[in-house]
Amino acid sequence: MKSTFFNSSPVSGGKSFLSQIRSAIVQPLVIIAVSTIVAIGGCATNLATGERHLNFTSEAQEISIGQQADQEVSASLGLYPDESLQQYIQQLGAKIAATTERPNLPWTFRVVDDPVVNAFALPGGFIYVTRGILTHLDNEAELAGVLGHEIGHVTAQHSVHRMATQQLSQLGLGVGMILVPQLQRYADIASAGLGLLFLKFSRDDESQADALGVRYMSKAGSDPQQLSSVMTMLERVSQVGGGDAGRVPEWLATHPTPANRKEHIAELISALNSNTSGGTVNRESFLRQIDGMVYGVNPREGFFKSNTFYQPDMKFRFDFPVGWKTINQKQSVLAVSPEEDAILVITLSNKKSANEAANEFFTQQGLTAQRYSGGSASINGLSSSSGGFTAPTEQGVVQGFATFIDYNGNVYQLLGYTSQTRWSKYEQGIVQSIRSFNRLTDSRMLSVQPQHIKIVTIDRNMSLEEFNRRYPSDISLEVLALINKVELNGQLQKGQKVKRIVGEKFE
Ligand SMILES: [Zn+2]
Repeated sequence: MKSTFFNSSPVSGGKSFLSQIRSAIVQPLVIIAVSTIVAIGGCATNLATGERHLNFTSEAQEISIGQQADQEVSASLGLYPDESLQQYIQQLGAKIAATTERPNLPWTFRVVDDPVVNAFALPGGFIYVTRGILTHLDNEAELAGVLGHEIGHVTAQHSVHRMATQQLSQLGLGVGMILVPQLQRYADIASAGLGLLFLKFSRDDESQADALGVRYMSKAGSDPQQLSSVMTMLERVSQVGGGDAGRVPEWLATHPTPANRKEHIAELISALNSNTSGGTVNRESFLRQIDGMVYGVNPREGFFKSNTFYQPDMKFRFDFPVGWKTINQKQSVLAVSPEEDAILVITLSNKKSANEAANEFFTQQGLTAQRYSGGSASINGLSSSSGGFTAPTEQGVVQGFATFIDYNGNVYQLLGYTSQTRWSKYEQGIVQSIRSFNRLTDSRMLSVQPQHIKIVTIDRNMSLEEFNRRYPSDISLEVLALINKVELNGQLQKGQKVKRIVGEKFE
């Protein structure tokens, strides 16, 4: 199982083909910014920080950029389907946002259905927390700290500034990636999958967001000390590492380091008025909200065992090339070559048959079909239609192979491509993978279920180990300690609420 949502490569860094394609994800956002440079470019004073910045966007534009990106995030990551949890996050977020210098933005707070430990903000006030970070939070004030920090990125307009800078450097290069529209779409999917949708902020931006977060959360009545314990959690999760502990994007935990951030937060709190010390923690009400939440990867949405992908609801399996980075998203499952210069992506077509989908694909403008003559062939007994293609882009010609398969009332599109110069290196692996598409019949895989968090109130003092004997969880003791914010040899008190994980681990 591998869910590579975040890697640490920069948005515009690297010279690989795919990294160039990837920058396409920010383009729809950035184009808006650029077209208005002349019209409204100028200096503006930021309300939250009092600093003056080059500002290419009006507030209305900032909001519209955020709204557009918000749709992409919701579609590709998916929102966690629990109305009451979503409402809880929205209410808490709105309460904090109301204390800021920009209370009138269309503040939107959402839980995305992702086991990775993360939170992020888009311009205009669109803020997301993953269910992975909720799993590791201990109380409402910690959550308020996370939301306050992300709100800080918005009020200080960090992402607006980052986009302006990135666009300027792109303009300098005179590059704008224009692919065949249909290919462009998959590049966008890959970009979102690799976490590049989310801008990385500078160390200074992070410190500023911490400072604003402390200010906002304490104004909203939460105990600001709890932002510090969020840093401890990030530190511990990144030390324990991947697996079911949940991963932390590397840059989130190291940039700046949680230890430095804790020091900074302590200074900020002591600088606050003494009468604002304290504040609410609200542990029990928070834990009630996450009681029953899905834990870890939800295998019903498809999962990997090494490089084989299993989709129990859609009942198919697929072998991606060995060593490729695999990514499972709501609307696609894909893999990227180790050098990030080739991609293989499976999506559903909205056409009625494989033939119809193939005909449309291979006849689209800007694309040259090769070895495609229409008609059906069989892949593992399933009717399919395939062909090779080339397509020109500003960075040179891309070459690839596409197959459309009729299965179970759906039409699957399997598409692999790279630059024409590298096609010979990848052709065999891509075509071989595409031919591995098959029915999933293994009943164990078909019946797999997610694990859930359950909150247990203990009736007497006990050690974590004893708790784990009485209320077993199918996760390691180390991870159990981590999600409960206790040490391995820690003691639990009578009446304390403790997280346990119910259900079998599917791996
Ligand atoms: Zn941040």
